Amino acid sequence: MQKGKIGVTTENIFPIIKKFLYSDHEIFLRELISNAVDATQKLKALSSMGDFKGEIGDTTIKVSLDEKKKTLTVSDRGIGMTSEEIEKYINQIAFSSAEEFLEKYKDKADAIIGHFGLGFYSSFMVSKQVEIITKSYKDDAKAVKWVCDGSPEYSLEEVEKEDRGTDIILHLDKESKEFAEEHRINELLKKYCKFLPVEIAFGEEKDWKDGKEVSTGKPKIINNTKPAWTQKPADLKDEDYKSFYRELYPMTFDEPLFNIHLNVDYPFNLTGILYFPKIKNNVEIQKNKIQLYCNQVFVTDSVEGIVPEFLTLLHGVIDSPDIPLNVSRSYLQSDSNVKKISNHITKKVADRLAELFKKDRTEFENKWDNLKLFIEYGMLTEEKFYEKAVKFALFKNIDGKYFTFEEYEKLIKENQTDKDKRLVYLYSTDRDAQFSYIEAAKAKGYDVLIMDGQLDAHFINHLEQKLKDSSFVRVDSDIIDKLIRKDDKTDSKIPQEQKDELIPVFNSQLPDGKINFIVQFEDLAETDAPIVITQNEFMRRMKDMSAMGGGGMGFYGDLPESYNLVVNANHPLVNSIIADKDKSVGDKVKSVLDEMKPVESEKEALEKLTKDKKEEEIEQVEKDKKEELNKKLEELRHKKEDVLKEYGKSNKLVKQLIDLALLANNMLKGEDLNKFVKRSVELIK
Ligand code: ADP
Repeated sequence: MQKGKIGVTTENIFPIIKKFLYSDHEIFLRELISNAVDATQKLKALSSMGDFKGEIGDTTIKVSLDEKKKTLTVSDRGIGMTSEEIEKYINQIAFSSAEEFLEKYKDKADAIIGHFGLGFYSSFMVSKQVEIITKSYKDDAKAVKWVCDGSPEYSLEEVEKEDRGTDIILHLDKESKEFAEEHRINELLKKYCKFLPVEIAFGEEKDWKDGKEVSTGKPKIINNTKPAWTQKPADLKDEDYKSFYRELYPMTFDEPLFNIHLNVDYPFNLTGILYFPKIKNNVEIQKNKIQLYCNQVFVTDSVEGIVPEFLTLLHGVIDSPDIPLNVSRSYLQSDSNVKKISNHITKKVADRLAELFKKDRTEFENKWDNLKLFIEYGMLTEEKFYEKAVKFALFKNIDGKYFTFEEYEKLIKENQTDKDKRLVYLYSTDRDAQFSYIEAAKAKGYDVLIMDGQLDAHFINHLEQKLKDSSFVRVDSDIIDKLIRKDDKTDSKIPQEQKDELIPVFNSQLPDGKINFIVQFEDLAETDAPIVITQNEFMRRMKDMSAMGGGGMGFYGDLPESYNLVVNANHPLVNSIIADKDKSVGDKVKSVLDEMKPVESEKEALEKLTKDKKEEEIEQVEKDKKEELNKKLEELRHKKEDVLKEYGKSNKLVKQLIDLALLANNMLKGEDLNKFVKRSVELIK
């Protein structure tokens, strides 16, 4: 038996680093099985080139457990190693035979698994001792056994082994007993080895007999050696893509909308299939479904930094030997290869969508509601994607019709351009809640978009920056005549004094609570509603964004909800309130006004007198007088308001009209609603 020391040079400090590099100990199995696959592929390559003339036979890689002895064995029938090769590849770990092999067989290189680094040594993360029993494919090769306990000392001796290939036997250490359990190994194989290109057997195929699970004696193959993404698109049918989707996500029951088969070999290598899932709500939950492979070996399913943020909403597989694997995420993000790959995928995705749009518009429209979130996300976050998507992104109006941005602009240009030549896009976020406003807009011949998606608030802001001279206005943000301002004229049918007197009347009946109402008058048509409730577009948007957690929006979030209570100054009921007010408190108001008149004229006279004087020239008596008059006026104004408020409180019609407006906006609830119903009955009597 030969004893020796593993050559430690500055370069092979790696195994130690790896201990820290891989926080996941479980990857050792991936490394060992990759090596076994590698050795098998090499043998097949040698055979196809005539360098190996023997029988290849069964190449199934076998994983086996001895739960009692706590050993885990990986056996392959690949090229095996001679004692010299062990010396070179295992002992002098600075060498990488994979590199050497690739150098020799360059053209066939893609068939060989690119190496992950010094994978074999990762087995010491979980073992107190590792044995290699191996026999080279070469004629007259002698089988050898290598044993090492993780220290630089090892032993190497000749042994008997019938078959070509390598057995790696791990004697698991105390902390790693979990890897002697069948379910744990099954789990790891499922995670890392599901699509490896050489068959891997673990355990036995089970069968159900008389309600019991029985072993069949047949080895169970755990992987699919030819996953769909490695095949030619021409050889695959729609159904093949769908069934591969189910294979990838056994727990997902929705079918994907469609897929993109990626196949690039220049300037980098990349294959894969991306699926568009039905994305409905909650962007966060949907992320991280894409799996990243390196030559069919699973690497990770957290692909942020590798593909653009919005693409993480897609599902599927990306396989590339050109993505550096064992490096940190921050490194990945700055890697130029990764950037190129990510740009390429973005472009492919946009092209595919454009193609679907062109080929079958109806089908594209049918899928739009499920695609919308994804496309908006992309347009919001990737300028390159926006540029392409702006040609196929759709608007949906309240009647369920779809338009491209260009088509929609044409549709509304004539009727929805305001006096400042801005195009006004009207939208609704809730068809039912905003029903009456939508109807009013339609009656005007306007078109209304439905914008009820999760990202729509952000998307609207984005579009306002992108589309020239355009603004988006929610249908309930103002009275219909002001949604799209066509000219400046506002001819008032009732005099300003009457409006001034009505404001306290209405104010006296506003609901108390957290919501702030501002009463204002508008000259609407007699047939329009007597009171309309609107909410300022800007304020509402800021509050919406702050609720969604938009940065720096906290200020708006803290402001109270504020609505406008717009009174239709031309409505007959409003006119009858005016008449009733004049009848009931007209005299009282007039007497206050009479009191005010002399004070006002005195104030006027004083102001005339001091008009041309500089501040320091005004005498103290004059200043005192002015202050006194102002105070007096203020008092009288309050007196007038109190009279009107007092009157307002007794006016059931005012309350009724306000409640009706609240009711129309689904804002009348609880006790207030109950009172409204009672009052209505009384008024009908
Ligand atoms: P890498 O696979 O990255 O080259 P490893 O430390 O995993 O690094 O393996 C070192 C070398 O040992 C491999 O390149 C290969 O030549 C040899 N080797 C490892 N496992 C096997 C195996 N199962 N069969 C044949 N050779 C192997």
